[in-house]
Amino acid sequence: MTAQILDGAATARKIRDELKAEVAALGARGIKPGLGVVLVGDHAASAVYVRNKTRACEELGMFHETAQMPASSTTAEVAARVEDYNRRADIHGILVQLPLPPQVDAERILALVDPVKDVDGFHAVNVGLLVQKKPRFVACTPAGVMELLRRYDIPISGRRAVVLGRSDIVGKPMAMLLLHADATVTICHSRTADLPAVTREADILIAAIGRAGFVRALHVKPGAVVIDVGINRITDPAEARDLLDDGRLAEFNTKGHALVGDVHFPSVRERASQITPVPGGVGPLTIALLMKNTVKAAGLAPSRAV
Ligand code: NDP
Repeated sequence: MTAQILDGAATARKIRDELKAEVAALGARGIKPGLGVVLVGDHAASAVYVRNKTRACEELGMFHETAQMPASSTTAEVAARVEDYNRRADIHGILVQLPLPPQVDAERILALVDPVKDVDGFHAVNVGLLVQKKPRFVACTPAGVMELLRRYDIPISGRRAVVLGRSDIVGKPMAMLLLHADATVTICHSRTADLPAVTREADILIAAIGRAGFVRALHVKPGAVVIDVGINRITDPAEARDLLDDGRLAEFNTKGHALVGDVHFPSVRERASQITPVPGGVGPLTIALLMKNTVKAAGLAPSRAV
């Protein structure tokens, strides 16, 4: 069996197209959705993520502003930027790009974001609402995975779902969303005993651990749906030969690097029924859901003249 590829990029495009109509409807009410980004330091991957997010805003006709701050910024300086965005009526959604430099108290900064502008869904109020099954802003990556499952008509109710990874950003909210969709959910982590035996029970397996190609055929029940959240940059040719198929290996040999997921795609593709690729799977959905949350935040704001 070769698995069907779940095309996250195409699904994200559809979501963005739907959002265009919502942005137009808000425009008629005098509201232009606005995203305020706080980017601290010169982390190369963060700069790429922020660029992709602000480009998506432009494509949708949304406003965006990035506060680019030096790596030496203090907690108080970053807090002042967040508070400025909290006050401003033209900013509906606030995104603090992680990771923050070590001297900045990330927990304090994330707690400062006004919960009605918390489009990343990291604030304790929004996490609590999710747990109570009254979601307002849900973390974009797990919300994107749910959209993908829904739009491919993948049944969830009554099925066994295993989430590999227990981070606040991906694993925990992912498990909660699957639970609310009536899956029977297991969460695994680095201390899970006999991991392959647990993951092999999954009808739906979500991998979010940050380990290139970790999930192998032995972890996967034949016919399972496998969602690969991982984004790992590899530069080692031996690793590339192990993890990439011939087409992508040629690309690696030219560029000297490649992005891979947490799933060993060449072998798991032969065992699963449906699988997301990396790149082109969950990544684009994360950005689409950030846009969706920002449009939603703008809809919650009081009407005002543009
Ligand atoms: P974290 O590092 O915060 O969490 C990783 C989790 O995986 C932890 O719970 C950890 O367990 C678990 N884990 C690590 N190694 C193993 C192992 N060998 N066996 C079992 N469990 C293990 O990562 P994130 O959740 O932030 O991200 C996970 C991956 O998803 C990364 O590759 C990241 O780049 C990617 N990502 C992708 C996004 C997208 O848009 N597609 C968005 C966000 C993240 P423990 O708790 O015990 O330490």
